[in-house]
Amino acid sequence: MQFASRLDKVETSAIRELFKLLGKPGIISFAGGFPDSAMFDVEGLRAASQAALDNNPGAALQYGATEGFDPLRAELATFMQSKGVGGVAAQDLIVTTGSQQALDLLGKTMVNPGDKVIVEGPTFLATIQCFRLYGAEVISAPIDADGVRVDRLEQLIVEHRPRFVYLIPTFGNPSGALLSLERRRRVLELAARHEVLVIEDDPYGDLYFGATPPPSLLALSADVPGSRAWLAYCGSLSKVLSPGLRIGWLVAPEALLARATMCKQFSDAHTSTFAQATAAHYLQAGRMPATLAQVREVYAARAQAMGEALRRELGDAIEFTQPQGGLFFWARLTGAGGRVADAGEFARRAIEQGVAFVPGAPFFATEPDTASLRLSFATADEPKIAEGVARLGRALG
Ligand code: PMP
Repeated sequence: MQFASRLDKVETSAIRELFKLLGKPGIISFAGGFPDSAMFDVEGLRAASQAALDNNPGAALQYGATEGFDPLRAELATFMQSKGVGGVAAQDLIVTTGSQQALDLLGKTMVNPGDKVIVEGPTFLATIQCFRLYGAEVISAPIDADGVRVDRLEQLIVEHRPRFVYLIPTFGNPSGALLSLERRRRVLELAARHEVLVIEDDPYGDLYFGATPPPSLLALSADVPGSRAWLAYCGSLSKVLSPGLRIGWLVAPEALLARATMCKQFSDAHTSTFAQATAAHYLQAGRMPATLAQVREVYAARAQAMGEALRRELGDAIEFTQPQGGLFFWARLTGAGGRVADAGEFARRAIEQGVAFVPGAPFFATEPDTASLRLSFATADEPKIAEGVARLGRALG
Protein backbone atom coordinates (compact mmCIF):
# COMPACT_ATOMS: atom_id res chain seq x y z
CA MET A 1 0.00 0.00 0.00
CA GLN A 2 1.26 3.51 -0.80
CA PHE A 3 1.02 6.21 1.85
CA ALA A 4 1.07 9.96 1.55
CA SER A 5 4.53 11.33 1.00
CA ARG A 6 4.08 13.79 3.90
CA LEU A 7 4.64 10.81 6.20
CA ASP A 8 8.19 10.47 4.92
CA LYS A 9 9.13 13.48 7.01
CA VAL A 10 8.14 11.99 10.37
CA GLU A 11 8.79 8.83 12.31
CA THR A 12 7.25 7.32 15.45
CA SER A 13 9.18 8.79 18.28
CA ALA A 14 12.22 7.20 19.83
CA ILE A 15 10.46 7.83 23.11
CA ARG A 16 7.55 5.57 22.22
CA GLU A 17 10.05 2.82 21.41
CA LEU A 18 11.54 3.26 24.87
CA PHE A 19 8.09 3.09 26.47
CA LYS A 20 7.77 -0.49 25.21
CA LEU A 21 10.51 -1.44 27.67
CA LEU A 22 8.66 0.07 30.59
CA GLY A 23 6.47 -3.00 31.09
CA LYS A 24 9.36 -4.65 32.96
CA PRO A 25 8.13 -5.44 36.48
CA GLY A 26 9.36 -3.18 39.27
CA ILE A 27 10.66 -0.49 36.97
CA ILE A 28 10.61 3.07 38.32
CA SER A 29 9.75 5.45 35.53
CA PHE A 30 10.89 9.05 35.23
CA ALA A 31 10.18 8.76 31.50
CA GLY A 32 6.57 9.83 31.08
CA GLY A 33 5.16 13.29 30.54
CA PHE A 34 2.02 12.46 32.48
CA PRO A 35 0.61 14.11 35.58
CA ASP A 36 0.07 11.76 38.54
CA SER A 37 -3.32 10.04 38.20
CA ALA A 38 -3.47 9.72 42.00
CA MET A 39 -3.98 13.49 42.07
CA PHE A 40 -7.02 13.71 39.84
CA ASP A 41 -9.89 15.37 41.66
CA VAL A 42 -12.23 12.42 41.09
CA GLU A 43 -14.86 13.72 43.52
CA GLY A 44 -14.95 17.11 41.87
CA LEU A 45 -15.12 15.64 38.38
CA ARG A 46 -17.84 13.18 39.42
CA ALA A 47 -19.93 16.08 40.72
CA ALA A 48 -19.23 18.12 37.60
CA SER A 49 -20.15 15.34 35.18
CA GLN A 50 -23.29 14.64 37.22
CA ALA A 51 -24.21 18.32 37.04
CA ALA A 52 -23.62 18.28 33.27
CA LEU A 53 -26.16 15.44 32.94
CA ASP A 54 -28.62 16.89 35.47
CA ASN A 55 -28.68 20.47 34.20
CA ASN A 56 -28.86 20.20 30.46
CA PRO A 57 -28.34 16.62 29.29
CA GLY A 58 -29.52 17.48 25.79
CA ALA A 59 -26.70 19.97 25.32
CA ALA A 60 -24.08 17.81 27.03
CA LEU A 61 -24.79 14.80 24.79
CA GLN A 62 -25.70 16.52 21.52
CA TYR A 63 -23.45 17.74 18.71
CA GLY A 64 -22.16 21.21 19.50
CA ALA A 65 -20.61 24.29 17.92
CA THR A 66 -17.10 23.90 16.49
CA GLU A 67 -15.93 26.92 18.51
CA GLY A 68 -16.83 25.15 21.73
CA PHE A 69 -19.51 24.94 24.42
CA ASP A 70 -20.32 28.56 25.30
CA PRO A 71 -20.46 28.13 29.10
CA LEU A 72 -16.96 26.59 28.98
CA ARG A 73 -15.62 29.37 26.74
CA ALA A 74 -16.91 31.88 29.29
CA GLU A 75 -15.36 29.94 32.20
CA LEU A 76 -12.00 29.72 30.39
CA ALA A 77 -12.04 33.47 29.73
CA THR A 78 -12.66 34.02 33.46
CA PHE A 79 -9.92 31.51 34.34
CA MET A 80 -7.43 33.44 32.20
CA GLN A 81 -8.58 36.74 33.72
CA SER A 82 -7.74 35.30 37.13
CA LYS A 83 -4.20 34.86 35.78
CA GLY A 84 -3.87 38.47 34.67
CA VAL A 85 -4.98 38.12 31.05
CA GLY A 86 -7.09 41.11 30.14
CA GLY A 87 -9.16 41.69 27.06
CA VAL A 88 -9.84 38.06 26.13
CA ALA A 89 -13.56 37.38 26.02
CA ALA A 90 -15.31 34.03 25.48
CA GLN A 91 -15.60 34.67 21.73
CA ASP A 92 -11.85 35.30 21.43
CA LEU A 93 -11.02 31.66 22.13
CA ILE A 94 -12.03 28.26 20.78
CA VAL A 95 -12.04 25.02 22.73
CA THR A 96 -9.76 22.36 21.27
CA THR A 97 -9.32 18.64 21.85
CA GLY A 98 -6.29 19.09 24.08
CA SER A 99 -3.78 21.82 23.30
CA GLN A 100 -2.22 19.25 20.98
CA GLN A 101 -5.11 19.90 18.59
CA ALA A 102 -4.58 23.66 18.84
CA LEU A 103 -0.97 23.11 17.72
CA ASP A 104 -2.11 20.86 14.89
CA LEU A 105 -4.65 23.47 13.76
CA LEU A 106 -1.96 26.16 13.81
CA GLY A 107 0.29 23.95 11.68
CA LYS A 108 -2.56 23.20 9.29
CA THR A 109 -3.60 26.85 9.07
CA MET A 110 -0.16 28.43 8.69
CA VAL A 111 2.34 26.05 7.08
CA ASN A 112 2.94 25.41 3.39
CA PRO A 113 5.41 22.66 2.42
CA GLY A 114 8.91 24.11 2.55
CA ASP A 115 8.00 26.92 4.96
CA LYS A 116 10.28 27.52 7.89
CA VAL A 117 9.21 27.60 11.53
CA ILE A 118 11.36 28.29 14.59
CA VAL A 119 11.11 26.29 17.80
CA GLU A 120 13.26 26.09 20.90
CA GLY A 121 16.11 23.57 20.99
CA PRO A 122 14.98 21.44 22.82
CA THR A 123 11.19 21.51 22.51
CA PHE A 124 8.06 19.34 22.75
CA LEU A 125 8.64 16.42 20.41
CA ALA A 126 5.06 16.07 19.17
CA THR A 127 5.11 19.66 17.95
CA ILE A 128 8.25 19.12 15.88
CA GLN A 129 6.59 16.08 14.28
CA CYS A 130 3.28 17.88 13.79
CA PHE A 131 4.86 20.87 12.03
CA ARG A 132 6.99 18.54 9.88
CA LEU A 133 3.88 16.65 8.85
CA TYR A 134 2.70 19.87 7.20
CA GLY A 135 6.02 20.13 5.40
CA ALA A 136 7.71 22.68 7.66
CA GLU A 137 11.45 22.96 7.89
CA VAL A 138 11.90 23.19 11.65
CA ILE A 139 14.73 25.40 12.88
CA SER A 140 15.97 25.45 16.49
CA ALA A 141 16.71 28.54 18.52
CA PRO A 142 19.05 27.85 21.47
CA ILE A 143 17.90 28.21 25.06
CA ASP A 144 19.58 28.69 28.41
CA ALA A 145 18.22 28.60 31.98
CA ASP A 146 16.24 31.81 31.25
CA GLY A 147 14.50 30.29 28.22
CA VAL A 148 15.03 31.11 24.57
CA ARG A 149 18.07 33.27 23.72
CA VAL A 150 16.28 36.28 22.30
CA ASP A 151 19.38 37.68 20.57
CA ARG A 152 19.76 34.44 18.60
CA LEU A 153 16.02 34.27 18.02
CA GLU A 154 16.03 37.68 16.36
CA GLN A 155 18.93 36.71 14.10
CA LEU A 156 17.09 33.53 13.08
CA ILE A 157 13.85 35.45 12.40
CA VAL A 158 15.70 37.91 10.16
CA GLU A 159 17.62 35.14 8.41
CA HIS A 160 14.78 32.69 7.83
CA ARG A 161 11.54 34.75 7.78
CA PRO A 162 9.63 31.89 9.49
CA ARG A 163 5.85 31.38 9.34
CA PHE A 164 5.90 31.43 13.11
CA VAL A 165 7.96 31.00 16.25
CA TYR A 166 6.76 28.31 18.69
CA LEU A 167 7.73 28.77 22.35
CA ILE A 168 6.92 27.15 25.70
CA PRO A 169 7.92 30.13 27.86
CA THR A 170 6.87 28.74 31.24
CA PHE A 171 8.45 25.49 32.51
CA GLY A 172 9.07 24.10 29.05
CA ASN A 173 8.85 20.48 28.03
CA PRO A 174 11.49 19.12 28.19
CA SER A 175 13.67 22.01 29.37
CA GLY A 176 11.77 23.07 32.51
CA ALA A 177 13.13 26.55 31.69
CA LEU A 178 11.37 29.76 32.65
CA LEU A 179 11.61 32.65 30.20
CA SER A 180 12.56 35.79 32.12
CA LEU A 181 10.24 38.81 32.24
CA GLU A 182 12.70 40.92 30.29
CA ARG A 183 12.98 38.30 27.54
CA ARG A 184 9.19 37.97 27.42
CA ARG A 185 8.90 41.66 26.62
CA ARG A 186 11.59 41.36 23.98
CA VAL A 187 9.87 38.38 22.34
CA LEU A 188 6.66 40.42 22.08
CA GLU A 189 8.59 43.38 20.67
CA LEU A 190 10.16 41.06 18.08
CA ALA A 191 6.72 39.74 17.11
CA ALA A 192 5.40 43.25 16.54
CA ARG A 193 8.54 44.62 14.89
CA HIS A 194 9.12 41.71 12.49
CA GLU A 195 5.39 40.94 12.08
CA VAL A 196 5.98 37.30 12.86
CA LEU A 197 3.42 35.11 14.60
CA VAL A 198 4.52 33.83 18.01
CA ILE A 199 2.77 30.75 19.41
CA GLU A 200 2.82 30.54 23.20
CA ASP A 201 2.18 26.99 24.42
CA ASP A 202 1.33 27.13 28.12
CA PRO A 203 0.23 23.81 29.63
CA TYR A 204 2.55 24.13 32.65
CA GLY A 205 2.23 27.79 33.69
CA ASP A 206 0.01 26.99 36.68
CA LEU A 207 2.43 24.42 38.07
CA TYR A 208 4.81 26.76 39.89
CA PHE A 209 6.46 25.81 43.18
CA GLY A 210 7.50 29.08 44.76
CA ALA A 211 7.00 32.61 43.50
CA THR A 212 4.44 33.11 40.74
CA PRO A 213 6.20 33.09 37.36
CA PRO A 214 6.24 36.20 35.15
CA PRO A 215 2.95 36.83 33.31
CA SER A 216 2.26 34.84 30.15
CA LEU A 217 3.10 36.45 26.83
CA LEU A 218 -0.66 36.74 26.37
CA ALA A 219 -1.05 38.72 29.60
CA LEU A 220 1.99 40.89 28.83
CA SER A 221 0.92 41.59 25.26
CA ALA A 222 -1.49 44.23 26.59
CA ASP A 223 1.61 46.33 27.48
CA VAL A 224 3.54 45.84 24.23
CA PRO A 225 1.88 47.80 21.42
CA GLY A 226 1.03 45.78 18.33
CA SER A 227 2.03 42.41 19.81
CA ARG A 228 -1.43 40.92 20.46
CA ALA A 229 -2.03 40.89 16.70
CA TRP A 230 0.95 38.52 16.30
CA LEU A 231 0.32 36.17 19.20
CA ALA A 232 -1.49 32.84 19.49
CA TYR A 233 -1.88 31.20 22.90
CA CYS A 234 -2.57 27.51 23.63
CA GLY A 235 -3.95 26.59 27.05
CA SER A 236 -4.74 23.16 28.52
CA LEU A 237 -6.44 21.58 31.51
CA SER A 238 -4.38 18.40 31.01
CA LYS A 239 -1.54 18.91 33.45
CA VAL A 240 -3.55 20.51 36.22
CA LEU A 241 -6.88 18.70 36.08
CA SER A 242 -7.00 15.71 33.71
CA PRO A 243 -5.47 14.94 30.32
CA GLY A 244 -8.20 12.38 29.65
CA LEU A 245 -10.79 15.15 29.47
CA ARG A 246 -8.93 16.46 26.37
CA ILE A 247 -9.75 20.10 27.04
CA GLY A 248 -7.46 22.72 25.57
CA TRP A 249 -8.08 26.13 24.08
CA LEU A 250 -6.69 28.51 21.52
CA VAL A 251 -6.62 32.31 21.66
CA ALA A 252 -5.56 33.92 18.39
CA PRO A 253 -6.14 37.02 16.26
CA GLU A 254 -9.59 36.95 14.70
CA ALA A 255 -8.65 35.99 11.13
CA LEU A 256 -6.42 33.15 12.31
CA LEU A 257 -8.98 31.90 14.81
CA ALA A 258 -11.66 31.81 12.10
CA ARG A 259 -9.46 29.70 9.83
CA ALA A 260 -8.39 27.37 12.63
CA THR A 261 -12.08 26.92 13.47
CA MET A 262 -12.83 26.02 9.87
CA CYS A 263 -10.03 23.41 9.91
CA LYS A 264 -11.35 22.00 13.19
CA GLN A 265 -14.78 21.62 11.61
CA PHE A 266 -13.32 19.22 9.04
CA SER A 267 -11.21 17.47 11.66
CA ASP A 268 -13.42 16.53 14.63
CA ALA A 269 -16.45 18.87 14.24
CA HIS A 270 -16.07 19.84 17.89
CA THR A 271 -14.49 18.73 21.14
CA SER A 272 -16.62 16.29 23.19
CA THR A 273 -19.59 18.29 24.47
CA PHE A 274 -19.83 16.05 27.52
CA ALA A 275 -16.21 16.72 28.45
CA GLN A 276 -16.71 20.43 27.83
CA ALA A 277 -19.87 20.59 29.96
CA THR A 278 -18.06 18.68 32.71
CA ALA A 279 -15.10 21.07 32.61
CA ALA A 280 -17.47 24.08 32.60
CA HIS A 281 -19.25 22.82 35.74
CA TYR A 282 -15.93 22.04 37.37
CA LEU A 283 -14.59 25.56 36.83
CA GLN A 284 -17.92 27.12 37.77
CA ALA A 285 -18.01 25.19 41.04
CA GLY A 286 -14.85 27.08 42.03
CA ARG A 287 -12.74 23.98 42.68
CA MET A 288 -9.77 24.98 40.56
CA PRO A 289 -7.86 27.11 43.11
CA ALA A 290 -7.77 24.26 45.65
CA THR A 291 -6.83 21.75 42.95
CA LEU A 292 -3.97 23.96 41.78
CA ALA A 293 -2.73 24.49 45.33
CA GLN A 294 -2.70 20.72 45.85
CA VAL A 295 -0.81 19.80 42.66
CA ARG A 296 1.72 22.59 43.21
CA GLU A 297 2.47 21.34 46.70
CA VAL A 298 2.89 17.70 45.71
CA TYR A 299 5.04 18.38 42.64
CA ALA A 300 7.16 20.93 44.50
CA ALA A 301 8.05 18.32 47.13
CA ARG A 302 8.89 15.76 44.45
CA ALA A 303 11.04 18.22 42.50
CA GLN A 304 12.90 19.05 45.69
CA ALA A 305 13.44 15.36 46.45
CA MET A 306 14.68 14.64 42.95
CA GLY A 307 17.13 17.56 42.97
CA GLU A 308 18.61 16.46 46.28
CA ALA A 309 18.85 12.82 45.19
CA LEU A 310 20.52 13.72 41.89
CA ARG A 311 23.16 15.80 43.66
CA ARG A 312 23.70 13.04 46.22
CA GLU A 313 23.82 10.04 43.86
CA LEU A 314 25.24 11.46 40.65
CA GLY A 315 27.39 14.32 41.94
CA ASP A 316 29.48 16.00 39.28
CA ALA A 317 28.53 13.43 36.63
CA ILE A 318 25.39 15.45 35.94
CA GLU A 319 24.50 19.15 35.71
CA PHE A 320 21.04 20.70 35.86
CA THR A 321 19.07 23.74 36.97
CA GLN A 322 16.56 23.07 39.73
CA PRO A 323 13.14 23.58 38.08
CA GLN A 324 10.82 26.17 39.61
CA GLY A 325 7.72 24.52 38.20
CA GLY A 326 6.38 22.07 35.63
CA LEU A 327 7.03 18.33 35.60
CA PHE A 328 10.63 17.94 34.42
CA PHE A 329 14.31 18.04 35.20
CA TRP A 330 16.44 18.72 32.16
CA ALA A 331 20.01 17.58 32.75
CA ARG A 332 23.32 16.96 31.00
CA LEU A 333 25.85 14.23 31.59
CA THR A 334 29.30 15.74 32.08
CA GLY A 335 31.35 12.57 31.63
CA ALA A 336 33.26 13.55 34.79
CA GLY A 337 35.62 10.84 36.05
CA GLY A 338 35.28 8.97 32.76
CA ARG A 339 31.67 8.10 33.46
CA VAL A 340 29.10 7.63 30.72
CA ALA A 341 28.37 10.85 28.82
CA ASP A 342 25.95 9.54 26.19
CA ALA A 343 22.36 9.71 27.40
CA GLY A 344 21.18 6.93 25.05
CA GLU A 345 23.78 4.53 26.48
CA PHE A 346 22.90 5.70 30.00
CA ALA A 347 19.18 5.04 29.33
CA ARG A 348 19.91 1.45 28.29
CA ARG A 349 22.02 0.85 31.39
CA ALA A 350 19.36 2.48 33.54
CA ILE A 351 16.64 0.16 32.24
CA GLU A 352 18.85 -2.78 33.25
CA GLN A 353 18.99 -1.29 36.76
CA GLY A 354 15.19 -0.88 36.82
CA VAL A 355 14.79 2.85 36.19
CA ALA A 356 13.73 4.73 33.05
CA PHE A 357 14.11 8.25 31.71
CA VAL A 358 14.15 9.79 28.25
CA PRO A 359 17.36 10.73 26.42
CA GLY A 360 17.24 14.36 25.31
CA ALA A 361 18.42 14.10 21.69
CA PRO A 362 14.96 13.53 20.09
CA PHE A 363 13.73 16.84 21.56
CA PHE A 364 16.03 18.77 19.23
CA ALA A 365 14.78 19.56 15.73
CA THR A 366 18.40 20.09 14.71
CA GLU A 367 21.80 19.58 16.36
CA PRO A 368 20.82 17.07 19.06
CA ASP A 369 22.66 17.24 22.35
CA THR A 370 23.43 13.56 23.02
CA ALA A 371 24.49 14.25 26.62
CA SER A 372 21.10 15.66 27.58
CA LEU A 373 18.21 13.85 29.27
CA ARG A 374 14.76 14.49 30.71
CA LEU A 375 13.58 13.16 34.05
CA SER A 376 9.97 13.55 35.16
CA PHE A 377 9.34 13.77 38.89
CA ALA A 378 5.56 13.80 38.51
CA THR A 379 4.44 10.24 38.97
CA ALA A 380 6.82 8.78 41.59
CA ASP A 381 6.47 9.66 45.27
CA GLU A 382 9.51 10.73 47.30
CA PRO A 383 10.68 7.25 48.40
CA LYS A 384 10.39 6.01 44.79
CA ILE A 385 12.31 9.05 43.58
CA ALA A 386 15.11 8.33 46.07
CA GLU A 387 15.25 4.67 45.03
CA GLY A 388 15.03 5.48 41.30
CA VAL A 389 17.84 8.02 41.47
CA ALA A 390 19.97 5.57 43.49
CA ARG A 391 19.50 3.11 40.62
CA LEU A 392 20.59 5.85 38.21
CA GLY A 393 23.74 6.21 40.30
CA ARG A 394 24.41 2.46 39.93
CA ALA A 395 23.74 2.64 36.18
CA LEU A 396 26.34 5.37 35.87
CA GLY A 397 28.95 3.00 37.30
N1 PMP B 1 2.30 21.18 24.77
C1 PMP B 1 3.24 20.69 25.58
C2 PMP B 1 4.49 21.49 25.80
C3 PMP B 1 3.06 19.46 26.22
O1 PMP B 1 4.03 18.99 27.02
C4 PMP B 1 1.86 18.75 26.00
C5 PMP B 1 1.59 17.42 26.66
N2 PMP B 1 2.65 16.60 26.88
C6 PMP B 1 0.92 19.30 25.13
C7 PMP B 1 1.17 20.52 24.54
C8 PMP B 1 -0.36 18.61 24.80
O2 PMP B 1 -1.19 18.50 25.88
P1 PMP B 1 -2.76 18.30 25.76
O3 PMP B 1 -3.08 17.99 24.33
O4 PMP B 1 -3.07 17.17 26.66
O5 PMP B 1 -3.36 19.59 26.19
